[in-house]
Parts: sequence; C-alpha cells; structure tokens
Amino acid sequence: MIFPRSFAIHVTYTCPLACAHCCFSSSPANKDRLDIEHILSTLDALDAETIKMVAFTGGEPLLLGDQLMRAIRRAKDRGLTTRVVTSAYFGRQPKHAARIVDQLTAAGLDELSISWDDFHEEFVPFDAVINTFKAARAAGMTVAINTVQAADSKWSRARLLDELGEPEDSDAILSESPLNKTGRARTELEDAQLRPERTVGPCPYVLTGPTLSARNKLLACCGVIQETPELVLDPDFHPANLEEAIQRGMDDPLLNWIYLRGPYAVLAYIGTEFGAAVPAREDVGGNCEACHILFHTPEIRALIPAALERQQDAIMGELRLLDALGLAGPTEIMSMWAEESRVHPAALEAAE
Ligand code: SF4
Ligand code: SF4
Repeated sequence: MIFPRSFAIHVTYTCPLACAHCCFSSSPANKDRLDIEHILSTLDALDAETIKMVAFTGGEPLLLGDQLMRAIRRAKDRGLTTRVVTSAYFGRQPKHAARIVDQLTAAGLDELSISWDDFHEEFVPFDAVINTFKAARAAGMTVAINTVQAADSKWSRARLLDELGEPEDSDAILSESPLNKTGRARTELEDAQLRPERTVGPCPYVLTGPTLSARNKLLACCGVIQETPELVLDPDFHPANLEEAIQRGMDDPLLNWIYLRGPYAVLAYIGTEFGAAVPAREDVGGNCEACHILFHTPEIRALIPAALERQQDAIMGELRLLDALGLAGPTEIMSMWAEESRVHPAALEAAE
C-alpha cells in the first residue's frame, strides 16, 4: 500500500556552497529557513507507526547549529531514525570534522549522508569528505555518500571506494544518481551531457517520502521541482493538517500514476493520445527532469486533465488490485518495471 515511509525537512535553503547542479538553487544568498518551533511541532505530528525515518536536509542543515541538534533529539524521542544530509563543508580539518560529528552523535544521529561529486568539488575538497567520513564511521554512524554524475564526471562510486580505501562490499552506502537538469542545472548545465546509463520509470518517492520545504510547503515528494502546484499537498503547512494533506495526496490519481508508472509514462501517454511533442525517453536525464517537462511545458501541462479523465479509473483500479495482492510497495513497483525503465542511449546508438 502507498503511505509515507519517510519524511524530509528542508530546514533551510541557505548553503555556503552554490553548486551548479543544485535543484533547490541554494546559496549563501538564499535566506529561506524554517522556525525551530515549527520543525519540532512537525516532528510531533508525524505518525511514527508508518514514518520510520526523518531526513534533515536543505540547503545545508548544519547551518542551524544547536537548533538542528534539538530537532534530531526530538525525532529520536519520537522513535524515528534520523538522517542529516550535508556537503561536509565543515570537514577540511580533521578536528573540525570530529567536533561536528561529536555534536551529531550526542544528539543521537543515526545516519550522515554526504552529497559530494564533481560539482561540489568546486567548493569542498575531497579531504573534507575523507575527514568527515572517517569521523562518522569512528562514531558508529551509518555513512552514505551520494554522487551526481554527468557523462564526463570524474568522480564515481568506484573512484570513491578506491580513494577512501573501502572494499567493494563496504558497509558505507555509496551511490550514484544521474544529473537531472532541474533548478540551477537548467541554466548552468544546459549543455552538460547526460550519463548514458540511468532509469526513467516509476517514482518511488512520490507519496512515500513527503517533504516540508524551507518555504513551509508540504510537498508530495522530495521537492526537486517544488514550485509545481500539482506536487504541493499544502501550500501553507500547519502540523495539525498533516494527516488530511497526506490523505489528499493519496487520493490524487495523478500522483498515483507517477508512483505506478512514472512521469515519463504520463508524458508518453499525452504524446501518443493527444499528439503533443514530447522528448524521447533517452533525451531525459531522469524522473525529476521528466516531471519538470510534464508540469512546466504549458502545452503538455494543459493536457493533463484530459489524460486523467481517460486514465484515472484504470490507475486507481490497478492500485487497488496491486494493494490486494500485496504488490503496491515501492520496491515491488520498481522491480515490476525495472527492464522498461532502463535507458542506455549509448547502447541504443551502437545498435543502430
Ligand atoms: S547541491 Fe547541496 S551543497 Fe550544493 S548548493 Fe545545493 S544544497 Fe548546497
Ligand atoms: S519524479 Fe516527480 S514526483 Fe518523483 S521525486 Fe521527482 S519531481 Fe517528485
């Protein structure tokens, strides 16, 4: 069944960095920030029976200092697993990395997730990642590093493993995501070449991982294209309305369509049924880029109501059926469409 399994809070969009690929257009100049009492009330409102993990992200959440530690403590008191997503900008000196990790450990943090790649390297040296990685490992935290990749990226999971001296089966979570041209990347990386291997299929985050944005909007997913009314569950969020807003999302056939098949499938349907010009799947960087095209191309967006009119009964019927069979979880849906979701433009070109 679809229900929120995790919850993200974008505590601020201020960031000491201004990475070219930042989907939130964060920078030192961005002042969007949630009030700490509002964050704590939101944590109190989460249903800890279903929401198992809360991620504090941004922007740079560590800019909140002691307020972030209070939020982590409150989430732990509620029985939630906690994650902080950071660029490790503070870790240039081992002692600075250790000091921040000590504070996070004292607050009870479970997972430190480092976002770092070619784009971050312009601002944060790899030494800061190593120092922070080692300090967090020594403190017994789960450590993750996610690296965003374009076609010519120098950093990859394999290189990270190598330079960190970690084995292939390291218990650190090292992952790669393809560059999506959303946020600042739409202008600053307009000409970047996409990584050949990627997936464009069902979205496992919509409805399962809602987010409170630093502009106080409750979003249906991780908020990569948050200025999109269709993905906003509550434009002026109040914790007392959390359950009702989430239920609205779960009843929304468009969000369920994106969950079951992905935004590219909605685009493709509109292209086939109504003759709209939609890009080929291999020209789309990923699901969030497909969502951006769907919701921010006026002539395509205008056709969404007509597409829903024809498809909504089938979508909701399919969901009920999968739910009855115990196959409506994100992992089951993703594996059901795994083969169709793969995009290998390089391989396609070679075959032509
Ligand atoms: S990608 Fe992350 S580290 Fe870079 S500007 Fe955006 S929020 Fe900051
Ligand atoms: S694909 Fe769309 S719904 Fe899913 S996370 Fe990206 S923007 Fe959100």
